[in-house]
Amino acid sequence: MLWIASLCLLLAASVLGAPVNKERQKVLLISFDGFRWDYDRDVDTPNLDRMAKEGVKALYVTPPYLTITSPTHFTLLTGRYIENHGVIHNMWFDTTTTEKRPYYQTQFVNEWWDNGTLPIWITAQRQGLKAGSLHFPGTASSYQGEVAMVREVEPPFYNYKNETAWKENTDKVMHWFRDEDLDFISMYFGEPDGTGHRYGPDSPERRRMVEQVDRTLGYIRQSAERHGLVDSLNIIVTADHGMSTVYRNGLVEEITLRKIPGFSFSDLSFHLVDFGPSGMLLPKPGKLEKVYNALKGAHPHLYVFKKEEMPERLHFTKNDRILPIILWADPGYVINGYFPVQFNKGEHGFDNEDMDMKPFFRAVGPAFHKNLEVGPFETVNIYPLMCHILGIRPEVNDGHLNATKHMLVTSATTQAADESTFDMTFTGLAAVAGFLVVVFIVMTSHIILKNKRKIKRSGSSEHLPEEKTKQTTF
Ligand SMILES: [Zn+2]
Repeated sequence: MLWIASLCLLLAASVLGAPVNKERQKVLLISFDGFRWDYDRDVDTPNLDRMAKEGVKALYVTPPYLTITSPTHFTLLTGRYIENHGVIHNMWFDTTTTEKRPYYQTQFVNEWWDNGTLPIWITAQRQGLKAGSLHFPGTASSYQGEVAMVREVEPPFYNYKNETAWKENTDKVMHWFRDEDLDFISMYFGEPDGTGHRYGPDSPERRRMVEQVDRTLGYIRQSAERHGLVDSLNIIVTADHGMSTVYRNGLVEEITLRKIPGFSFSDLSFHLVDFGPSGMLLPKPGKLEKVYNALKGAHPHLYVFKKEEMPERLHFTKNDRILPIILWADPGYVINGYFPVQFNKGEHGFDNEDMDMKPFFRAVGPAFHKNLEVGPFETVNIYPLMCHILGIRPEVNDGHLNATKHMLVTSATTQAADESTFDMTFTGLAAVAGFLVVVFIVMTSHIILKNKRKIKRSGSSEHLPEEKTKQTTF
C-alpha cells in the first residue's frame, strides 16, 4: 500500500511543481502629443509602416472629452473617463480665490492628480511589478503617498523638439527596462503638438515633425533591440488627441463672449476661457439662467450646455470640479473672452467625435499579432489591455479588454499564461483526487472482502477494527 501512497504523492508533486512560463512581458506606453490619426498619410513614414507590418495598427482611436493634454493622458494611465478620474483640465484652479495655474505648474499640484484614481504605475507596483515614467503627464504627483519608482519629470522651459534629447531619453528608458528590470514605463514626447499649434496641422513644419517622430520610432525599436528587449517588450504608441486648423485672417466671425448681447463677465464669479475651443463658467448665485440664456444660440458655432445637460456620450458631467456651464466650439473656432488673445493655427479640445481629434495607434511586441489592422476603439480601453499583458489586476475602470483582445496573441500574454497554469493545476489536482478515490474504493473493497473471508474462516470479528485502522492511515 505504501507504493500507492508514494505514487500519489509523486503525481501530485509533478503536477503542482510543473514548470511554469513565469517570464513576464514588459510594456512601454509612448505618447506623441497631438499626433493625429492621419498624420502618416502625407508624409513618408517607413518606421510607422514597419510597426504596422510587424504589429497592430488601429485606423484611429477615440480620446475622452475634454480633448486636452493632461485629462486625456490620465485616461491612458487609468482607463477612466475624465469625469471619473477628476483631472478635468490642464489647469488647476480655485473658484474661491480665482487662482489658476498653467499646465506645467499644475503637474506639481498633488491634490489635482491624486483624487482617488490610481494610475497604472501604482497598481503595478502594489502587485509586485516595477514601474517608471519619463515626462508623462501626472509623473510629478504622488498617489496615496506612492510614486512611480523610477521617474523623470521634464525641467521647466523644456525644449520639446530636440531630437538628440529624444534619443537620449529613449536609451534611458531602455536602460531602466534592462538594468533595473522595470516592467512598465510610460514615456512622453511633446511633439507634434507644439508644431501643430504653431504652424497648423496642414503645414510643411508639421510634416517635418512627423518625419522626426518616425525617425525616433525607428530609433526606439533599434534601442530595444540593442538592449536585448525584443522578446519581452511590448511597445504601444499613441497620443492624447489630434489637431484641427483654426480659421484665421477674418475668414470667419470669431467667438468673443464680451460681444454677445446680454452676456456680462460681471455675472460670473469664475471662468476658464481663452484656452482653445472649450470653456467653463461659474455664474454668481442667481445668475445661471441669465448667463445661459444669453449665450445659448448666440453664435452658430458655439455650443452652450448646463453641466447636467451635457450629452452623456462625452462623460463630462459627474464631477464636482466641472463648472455649471460648459462651452465648446465647432472645429475652426476658438472661444475668446474679452478679445482675441489666441493666435495658434492649430487647436484641440473639440468634440471627441470630430475626426481631427482622433489620435493614431500602433502596437508591436510578443503579445501582439503581426500585420493586423483593426478598427477604431476608445482610449479608455488601452489601460485594461496593458494590465492584461502585465498580468496585473486592473482597478475599476471604464474600458474593456473585449475592445482590444483581438489584437493579442493570447498564449503570449502573462495573464493568459497564469490562467492556463491555474487550469492545469486545477485539472491536475482533480486527477489526483479522482485517483485517490479510486484507490480508496479498490482498497476498501479488497479489505472488506479479505475480512469477510477471515470472519467466515474464524467465525469472529476481532480482526476487523485493526484492518480498518490500517486502512484509514493509508
Ligand atoms: Zn496642445
